[in-house]
Amino acid sequence: MANSVSILVVDDERVVLNSCRAILSEQEYHVETASSGEEGLRLAERRAFDVALIDLKMPGMPGMDLLSKLAEVRPKTIRIVITGFATVETAIKAMKQGAFEYICKPFTPDELEAVVGKALENRDLREAAEQAQREKERFILTIYHQLKSPVGVIKGYVNNLLKGVITDETEKRNVLERCLKRSEALLQSLEDLLSLSQLKSRKIQPKRELVKLEDLVRCAAEGWNVRAQEKGIQLRLHVDVQLPPIVADREQIEHLFANLLDNALRYNKENGSVELKATVNRTDVRIDLSDTGIGIAEADIAKIFDEFYRCQNEQTRSMPGTGLGLSIVKEIVEAHGGRIEVRSEIGKGTTFTVWLPLRD
Ligand code: ADP
Repeated sequence: MANSVSILVVDDERVVLNSCRAILSEQEYHVETASSGEEGLRLAERRAFDVALIDLKMPGMPGMDLLSKLAEVRPKTIRIVITGFATVETAIKAMKQGAFEYICKPFTPDELEAVVGKALENRDLREAAEQAQREKERFILTIYHQLKSPVGVIKGYVNNLLKGVITDETEKRNVLERCLKRSEALLQSLEDLLSLSQLKSRKIQPKRELVKLEDLVRCAAEGWNVRAQEKGIQLRLHVDVQLPPIVADREQIEHLFANLLDNALRYNKENGSVELKATVNRTDVRIDLSDTGIGIAEADIAKIFDEFYRCQNEQTRSMPGTGLGLSIVKEIVEAHGGRIEVRSEIGKGTTFTVWLPLRD
């Protein structure tokens, strides 16, 4: 990390500049020095420093002025005040105005390293918190946009019914059925969202049960057979007889298969096929789920595991979905220490491959 960290030291005492440079360069920080406030400001205008150490008492531009100018020019630079005992009170005033810390002259190499280290640690924590906050805001905004549209549609339908705009009994029934469908989709989105947020926050740690994948795979396939038959889709299973039980959370693995199978059927063609293959090697169980469906464009592949991402094309437009299924799958796979990959060809089909570690 040190190499990418840049530090500006501003002090009119050459000896202080030289010793700061020697101590901090030893830590492999990039160090630049300035012997006046004016020169320090010029350097700061030219490039962004991570940390600036600023002497308060300098001829020409005083340290306090440089501190406030730096706050305007480079608000992200962490400012540390260098002070003599006589100016400690001013240093405290500087901290009230946004300086991170002060260090008293004369200081030891350890003291200098400690104050810079603390400043950088604080910056990393602050940046991580800001990033988390940004992600939270983005997630809430996405949820808002996703849920707003179906609620708006239901509201419109109900309004029309209440106003008596629709008089025909068959049309009324159609509208109510559309309301029901939209409400069911909304409910599904909310349930998926809850699962996803619990998985993401790792609130629910996967249980450690002995799971016989063969039973689970057969059970999942039986459950989906009716839907497969409706679409004339053939469901084929190849489970390695050597498949040992894995240590996993049964319910989560069921959820994983349900989501992948649901997609393999939904995005398939009439009279297509779905093949589920489970094999084992020394360290993992490998599951390949292949379908002969519509396929996924290369540009979409990198995004399909993102929350709410749905491929937009002629075929998918009319299909129901929340865009959360694969995000849930990915979280489950990762919570089990596994990984997932996808290969696909437009018009030919898609294969999802999941590796789950055997462990224990
Ligand atoms: P959705 O609820 O939209 O199915 P998913 O997160 O499960 O959400 O999938 C994201 C997108 O990836 C889908 O909208 C679909 O476009 C694409 N997709 C997923 N699985 C398949 C598949 N087996 N074949 C083709 N496209 C798929």
